[in-house]
Amino acid sequence: MRHVKYALCINKACGLQVEPKPDITLCPKCGEVLDITYDYEYLKSTITREQIEASTDNSFWRYKPFLPVEETSEAPALRVGWSPLYEKHGILGLDTLYIKDDGQNPTGSLKDRPSALCVVKAKEAGRTSVACASTGNAASSLAGSAAAAGLSAYIFVPERAPKGKLAQLLVFGANVVSVQGDYQAAFRLSDMAIQKWGWYSRNAAINPYLMEGKKTVALEICEQLNWQAPDWVAVSVGDGCSIAGVWKGFYDFYQMGFIDKLPRLLSVQAAGCYPVHKAFRAGTEEIVPMSEDTLADSIAVGVPRNGLKSLRALEASNGLAVEVSDEEILAAMCELGRSTGVFGEPAGVTGFAGLKKAVEQGLIRKDEKVVTIITGNGLKDTANALKAAGEPISSPPDMDRLLVEFEKRGVKPE
Ligand SMILES: *Cc1c(COP(=O)(O)O)cnc(C)c1O
Ligand SMILES: [Zn+2]
Repeated sequence: MRHVKYALCINKACGLQVEPKPDITLCPKCGEVLDITYDYEYLKSTITREQIEASTDNSFWRYKPFLPVEETSEAPALRVGWSPLYEKHGILGLDTLYIKDDGQNPTGSLKDRPSALCVVKAKEAGRTSVACASTGNAASSLAGSAAAAGLSAYIFVPERAPKGKLAQLLVFGANVVSVQGDYQAAFRLSDMAIQKWGWYSRNAAINPYLMEGKKTVALEICEQLNWQAPDWVAVSVGDGCSIAGVWKGFYDFYQMGFIDKLPRLLSVQAAGCYPVHKAFRAGTEEIVPMSEDTLADSIAVGVPRNGLKSLRALEASNGLAVEVSDEEILAAMCELGRSTGVFGEPAGVTGFAGLKKAVEQGLIRKDEKVVTIITGNGLKDTANALKAAGEPISSPPDMDRLLVEFEKRGVKPE
């Protein structure tokens, strides 16, 4: 990897530079997370915007020169990334809003990006099995990418894992272990099994390559906006890996001179679980664990594992943080669906919900150019969607009764 310099420890007091082997995890000296660091001068001499634009690869692998993989490594045959960016006018009172629909990834979430990168690194490390502990999109995306790459997947889920998410895992042929206990118990057992059998770990807490997969959503936004960075990007935050990845993507292309400014980040967490925002407002890098009281399960993270990286991204971008209630999330799901035809899961529309609040509070002006990322597909969680959207009109198969029912609901057929 001529274009990668090293993996840098993000603990400023340590700053160790680690050789970027495919199976590195945490800083061997201080235990903090690592950040993949590129040689931008070298990259500038090898790749141009025009070369990227000429790519016929309609997946995130069109940005392979900016990813920490060997040139000879092949991408699995599963189309990840290059999701649509819709331009909308007047929504939420904004002159121009762009909707990046990452729910259109193969397993239905932005997590397909880091998972696809993960299986490539696993192969580079010579492993035939990948593993993680998760109930949600990290697990289903890993199972999908592993199936496409011909690797075995071992997924540890807490026993209360929702049936719909289990279904995805089982269909993709993962070895699914339902651990009798909570998420922490599943995590501990996965960790011991990973040590014992030497599986490749897909764990955003320790694997520095995952964020590099997530950054591709920002690289795409730059190209799709014809290399004009937006003023704001609104992102929902759980562990903090996504927002940090978004920042890294814009940072890469800014360093390359592909864009001439960096956007500000709007971080959105649930009002029932916002440990990153608490630390951000207190101006500290110490994140205090919080309870996980929100129906947006994909961002119900009381102990964020990439909290420090997300705080750094927020600070560096002169960002803002807002929280939204579950009611606001559900209302936003319907508002987004009805104004754009895009269906997001609760965590998937949380960025949009926070953006609505930020515009109403005058934190973002109506003439500013804003992108919001829809991070997960609404079909992942139909129970909450039905809670948001209400009941259908019930009618016997009779035209007269249909008219009565329409009248009751105020429907005026045109
Ligand atoms: C994981 C996830 C997020 C948040 O990403 P973090 O890296 O945990 O902050 C947001 N939305 C969806 C749908 C997710 O699956
Ligand atoms: Zn260190």
